[in-house]
Amino acid sequence: VIRAVLLDAHGTLVALEPPAPRLRRLLRERFGVVVGAGEAERAMRAEIAYYRRHLGEAADEAGVQALRGRCAEVLRAQLPQSRALAEVNREAMTGALVDALVFKAFPDAAPALSALREAGLRLVVASNWDASLPAVLASTGLVDLVDGVVTSALSGASKPAPAVFRAALRLAGVAPAEALAVGDRLDEDVAGARAAGVEPILLVRGDAGDAPVRAPCGAPGPGGLRLIRSLAELPRLVAERSPGLP
Ligand SMILES: [Mg+2]
Repeated sequence: VIRAVLLDAHGTLVALEPPAPRLRRLLRERFGVVVGAGEAERAMRAEIAYYRRHLGEAADEAGVQALRGRCAEVLRAQLPQSRALAEVNREAMTGALVDALVFKAFPDAAPALSALREAGLRLVVASNWDASLPAVLASTGLVDLVDGVVTSALSGASKPAPAVFRAALRLAGVAPAEALAVGDRLDEDVAGARAAGVEPILLVRGDAGDAPVRAPCGAPGPGGLRLIRSLAELPRLVAERSPGLP
């Protein structure tokens, strides 16, 4: 019987709105700094890559602030150099970066979480993210729909390490066999869930151009892996695994 669902955050519950156009506008409006679309794109990519390498250091609010400051300097260094850009102070640069990073919930997220909760399931987000994830889930309206949030920064290991999933299972108060883990990445979500003894469900969104596998909706994929195209399929899938429950 399934009693809990563990959910990945990025690409599963929330997505980043394209940050480069937003960054360009903020740099122009706040500092009079004009950069090209491609230049903003490249700089954001470098910043995101730096962030991903270092997010484990942001385990609390102070760590988040410190990492954001360093990310803002990476961003500045990657933009075309100008006097106006050089004169922007670190705090203001950090503010522009933070305001350029806006997350939105996928439209299927809130309805699916509500339906799963109504069916009596415990819901825990398990994500490679820094300590600011609860705030991001709050800004996207999802935080009140889940029972807990586990981040790699706080658990000291990143998916596919099973530690993130084990912490989520503890928070949910269930055994590995009583949970499903939903995520959009084979290398992190599927591999990590299996390492923790939890059945993985791979979410392959219809608009994902780089989908790692293609298979009909709901059909088992490689190695018996279950694929879904939308979070809306989750309540039925959980019900199939829990015969006898209402
Ligand atoms: Mg993901």
